[in-house]
Amino acid sequence: MNKHIIYYLLAVVVMGVTVWYILNNPDVKRHSVVIDPRLQSYVEEWKSDMRANGFEPNDAIASLRSIEVGELTDEEQLGLTKYYEHKIIIDYDAIVLDNLTLRAIVYHELGHYVFGLEHGSCELMSETSESTDYYSANWTRIKEEYITLIRSQEFETHYLR
Ligand SMILES: [Zn+2]
Repeated sequence: MNKHIIYYLLAVVVMGVTVWYILNNPDVKRHSVVIDPRLQSYVEEWKSDMRANGFEPNDAIASLRSIEVGELTDEEQLGLTKYYEHKIIIDYDAIVLDNLTLRAIVYHELGHYVFGLEHGSCELMSETSESTDYYSANWTRIKEEYITLIRSQEFETHYLR
């Protein structure tokens, strides 16, 4: 057989294996979530909270395409989870709010997307946001409630322990 053909076939095999690896390796996939830099610190805090409670956050958000800032059509709405587009959108109006409220909004939307939490299932999943003073005084308690709710879910896909 011609040597060039062997090299050509080898190159095709190597490319095929590379593509297969990229599509199937979770370490490659997990870097594909595009997060707006203005939301990055809240997502990181959420991840470390999840990790501290036995969840693997990178696996949990691997199917998300983006956590972005955008304009939501509903004036009242500060965040939106688009399940089928694998997107979380935080409204421009939310970005200018205080850090504690913005953090609560990010936790709320990740609660929808990652764990399928519904409105009213806990305080963080309320449809209305609270004041910064309220979050400052109650954050530990409402976060505990949120995590307890997540633990009580039936599915264990992202659970480590
Ligand atoms: Zn919601």
